[in-house]
Amino acid sequence: MSFRPCSRVACPEESAATLTFDYSDSMAVLGPLSLRREPHSFDLCERHARLTSAPQGWQLVRLRMTTDGAAGLDCAE
Ligand SMILES: [Zn+2]
Repeated sequence: MSFRPCSRVACPEESAATLTFDYSDSMAVLGPLSLRREPHSFDLCERHARLTSAPQGWQLVRLRMTTDGAAGLDCAE
């Protein structure tokens, strides 16, 4: 499997989560790293996944992560 870097500019970390945008529902879903790249998703490292917030008017849904390193990711509501 190839190395998948974080999508953030100049971030060298390996991705640990995937942020997917559902444009029809104005919903951003942050979950475990997807197996393959999707058109409207962005891979993020653990740190950037934690720092991510939804754009204005969007809802951010954090799926519970199973890896130990992602502890602290909880539902935003
Ligand atoms: Zn990053």
